[in-house]
Amino acid sequence: MTEKCDVLILGAGAAGMMCAIRAGQRGRSVIILDHARAPGEKIRISGGGRCNFTNIHAGPKNYLSANPHFAKSALARYTPRDFIALVEKHRIAWHEKTLGQLFCDDSAKDIIRMLLAEMQAAHVKLRLETSVSTVSHDGGRFRVATSGGVIEAESLVVATGAKSIPKMGATGFAYQIAEQFGLPLIETRPGLVPLTLDPAALERLSPLAGVAVPAEVSHGKTAFNEALLFTHRGLSGPSILQVSSYWREGDTIRLKLEPASDIVALLRQAKQKNGRQSAQTALAEILPKRLAQHVVEKSGLTGNLADMSDKALTTLANEVQDWQIKPAGSEGYRTAEVTLGGVDTTCLDSRSMAAKSVPGLYFIGECVDVTGWLGGYNFQWAWASGQAAGEFA
Ligand code: FAD
Repeated sequence: MTEKCDVLILGAGAAGMMCAIRAGQRGRSVIILDHARAPGEKIRISGGGRCNFTNIHAGPKNYLSANPHFAKSALARYTPRDFIALVEKHRIAWHEKTLGQLFCDDSAKDIIRMLLAEMQAAHVKLRLETSVSTVSHDGGRFRVATSGGVIEAESLVVATGAKSIPKMGATGFAYQIAEQFGLPLIETRPGLVPLTLDPAALERLSPLAGVAVPAEVSHGKTAFNEALLFTHRGLSGPSILQVSSYWREGDTIRLKLEPASDIVALLRQAKQKNGRQSAQTALAEILPKRLAQHVVEKSGLTGNLADMSDKALTTLANEVQDWQIKPAGSEGYRTAEVTLGGVDTTCLDSRSMAAKSVPGLYFIGECVDVTGWLGGYNFQWAWASGQAAGEFA
């Protein structure tokens, strides 16, 4: 038996559920399916279990795409304020953590419950543990063969996410559908991902594994001022994850540790106050102990401050604030929070997210070549692109 609906959505993640809600509210009959056992699994694990559901500063400048203008329309029509209003309607308590990042006070599950309640109110039918075998398009309608039977729909919305964290069911299925309908793709790569170092650099930095420090990490003219973490594999922490989305194999990144401190001035002061102390002791006042030790050993300036010239103090300061590192690679999709690239935006309408060449076919969320910074920007794109498609599908 063939089931019929107006809108069939593949993928019950952030973008798919948002789209289902809006299309349902417009009176469209909507089915949303997912091969997972539960909807919104990435929402559940996001933000350390508290879901960084948006960023109050979200705007087109916070996204990477081959066409930086594409995201403007959807982001302008569904803003962080709109999502906050929805969260407040459901009495979910939230707080700003830092840099405009909004988190649930209690649990990310509150966001999933909110989306499910809105879907129910909009009469959306949710089918879980349902896989798709084939998609065809005939006579202006889509026929989708699923493990639960054939579904025929006027509009088909692809919201199956991207390749990050395959362990959680990420498939890259959206790209297959795009290719089937002749839509171009922008090459994909892992984003918001820890960077790895070659064995020699790893050995040099191994005593620092576990050390966290404020840092300005830059790639060309792009710089992020957030925490950095030395790990057993290389470098992580928010500043590194941010820069990883811009970094390409072979590129060098620059690290300025403790960027807010004038290290030379601090060392001069320490020398004046107590010249008999070592540079390591003085640096340990502002840096984690192991980092202070590493910096001093690397510089070879192990004596007392009193014996050090201004040039030596500058050398020490540069050891802290002028690192150039060539990462060997990244940890890949296994740990990447997002996938860069995806369905080429040139083939989509930026107002509706519809494929220009296939009436009724839509792509939303992470499968599209729009990728946000770390800090709630990716969910804001999922909500905004889902809403945009839900308005037209
Ligand atoms: P997804 O949420 O991935 O949803 C896709 C859905 O499609 C899934 O339910 C999947 O099961 C289903 N699916 C896939 N293939 C098929 C198939 N073949 N058939 C049927 N169903 C299929 N972003 C933020 O803004 N804030 C955060 O705090 C944050 N934390 C994160 C933490 C982690 C660990 C990770 C991995 C990501 C995080 N992100 C965060 C990114 C964010 O989760 C994604 O950008 C967002 O979930 C993308 O939404 P989406 O709906 O496009 O895709």
